[in-house]
Amino acid sequence: AESLPLPTEPRIFTVANQKGGVGKTTTTVNLAAALARSGARVLVIDLDPQGNASTALGVEHRSDTVSVYDVIINDEPMSQVIQKSPEFDTLFCVPATIHLAGAEIELVSLVAREQRLRSALDAFLGQSDDDFHYVFIDCPPSLGLLTINAFVAAREVLIPIQCEYYALEGLSQLLNNIKLIERHLNPRLSVSTILLTMYDSRTNLANQVADDVRQHFPQEVLKTLIPRSVRISEAPSYGQTVISYDPTSPGSLSYLEAASEIAHRGAPA
Ligand code: ADP
Ligand code: MG
Repeated sequence: AESLPLPTEPRIFTVANQKGGVGKTTTTVNLAAALARSGARVLVIDLDPQGNASTALGVEHRSDTVSVYDVIINDEPMSQVIQKSPEFDTLFCVPATIHLAGAEIELVSLVAREQRLRSALDAFLGQSDDDFHYVFIDCPPSLGLLTINAFVAAREVLIPIQCEYYALEGLSQLLNNIKLIERHLNPRLSVSTILLTMYDSRTNLANQVADDVRQHFPQEVLKTLIPRSVRISEAPSYGQTVISYDPTSPGSLSYLEAASEIAHRGAPA
């Protein structure tokens, strides 16, 4: 595996898009696996009650598993909840269980309700013996308190954009919401990375959308496009990322390439 430059401080990404089904979870787990394969220590925090990232990473997330819910609501230390992925020795996951569905409402009445994840993550990263290089937070497709917690805990936002007709719809609302978070809750937040996903080079539409997004966000969009690929969509049903399910498939290679771009670009100033 190609060895990549490692950041000196942990880079904390929130993977967000208010739309469902645009490739947030797929991008989270495959970038995380790609970076872990290159030797980085990587933590995925599953913040979606559906627990799709936990499934894809092959970690336990039955309803009685201690999870990110306990971290956010019950002050359980993150170190007690974290699980190693079976795929890579340097890839870890804070799983989500079905209990997280209730957290959105339970959070409303808690003190510092927007900062719960950040406090827990800061404490964990501060006391962990082994340094983490990357943290990826996988968000639900809504702008509720869970997603706000993710934006407050992160330094960088990674937005996956599906190359289809409605791709840009809702994006300005997402960016406005991120600006509000930046202004009121987390001044160090920045939209550093946009990744075009489910790209089908045979359609004019996909090319048009890709060009459009590049024109709007020339700095942020990665050169690498993630192709639409059956191997990518099959991998989670084996509790695997495509990086180990089918390492040399075009989908796997594209996520490895995207990970390399992210590592070489480094953290935003
Ligand atoms: P989100 O987390 O934004 O809801 P997912 O990552 O779960 O989106 O992706 C939605 C669906 O699309 C899933 O079934 C996933 O397997 C599939 N998918 C994601 N990326 C690709 C891709 N590049 N090629 C084919 N299918 C994909
Ligand atoms: Mg998802």
